[in-house]
Amino acid sequence: MQALQLFGDRDLRLTEVEAAPPPGPGEVRVRVRAVGLNFIDVWGFRGMAFAKRKLPLTVGAEAAGEIAEVGEGVEGFAAGEPVAMYGAQTCGRCRACREGRDNLCEEVGGVMGFHIDGFAREFVTMPARLVVKVPAGVSHVEAACAPVAFGTVQHMLFDNARLEPGESILVHAGGSGIGTAAIKMAKAIGCTVFTTVGDDEKGAKAAALGADHVVNYRTERFEGEVRRLTKRKGVDVVFEHVGPDTWNGSLLCLKRGGRLVTCGSTSGVSTTMNLMQLFQQQYRITGSFGCAIRNIRESLAKMADGITPVIDTVYPLADFGQGLERLESRKVFGKILVTL
Ligand SMILES: [Zn+2]
Repeated sequence: MQALQLFGDRDLRLTEVEAAPPPGPGEVRVRVRAVGLNFIDVWGFRGMAFAKRKLPLTVGAEAAGEIAEVGEGVEGFAAGEPVAMYGAQTCGRCRACREGRDNLCEEVGGVMGFHIDGFAREFVTMPARLVVKVPAGVSHVEAACAPVAFGTVQHMLFDNARLEPGESILVHAGGSGIGTAAIKMAKAIGCTVFTTVGDDEKGAKAAALGADHVVNYRTERFEGEVRRLTKRKGVDVVFEHVGPDTWNGSLLCLKRGGRLVTCGSTSGVSTTMNLMQLFQQQYRITGSFGCAIRNIRESLAKMADGITPVIDTVYPLADFGQGLERLESRKVFGKILVTL
């Protein structure tokens, strides 16, 4: 079967690999139909020297497809059914896994497409417990946005930041895959949404998604604008994934006792912050990575209810690298995917 593999820094090749084995007990074989691109792919593509992994590596951390074959003892799945797949090889036995918090697995085998072979291949054989059924009316392309983009946001907003209806939230990079998802999910429960974008064209699109206040961070200081618009009170929640470029401004946007949740640092990994401000203002800062399998189910249910992902571009598998370059260039609004 064919797989898209990373051979070195920015060296992606479509190669012939050994077919995915028939499913063993408790496993399913899935025919992969769509793969979502994420910043973790960009990091991998640039050659992250500290990541423990062997090259060539099949890329793709986020995917959906349909059941091709069901292994012994697997119930609830039938051939042809659409499914989305969890993007990390978790043990299923440790306390975190048993409690459904797979993203805190103590024996995790790695993130698919980053540490271990990912989903950009025709078939994958994996444990059925890491596979989630896709409800009717949700396409393969949409479902492929559930395991990382929607799942991460669902986990950040509702498990970690505990966002409540009627609260206010600042969503950074409102044109990104996760930014667009965060705007839609927050608006769906009646929040007031502030968002930052890098150009006015994206600003208009973010407003069309329902964002109440859009700030172009290249022409205005977003922290000043958010404080002005909230009459210096600030927002309840900040959705961070930019890092050093926005970190201290984000804290300035928070209400006393406000919550900041972060899942990324695209502008770098280190920053300094004022600790007096942290404790006096009683901020709560939470790091978030990945999601629980339950969050994928919740995300797919939202999609079936009409909270669908914003799709920027869909490429054929062979153009995955072009997709990554587009993602890197930031000229993107929503998700980039490949289909096969
Ligand atoms: Zn585990």
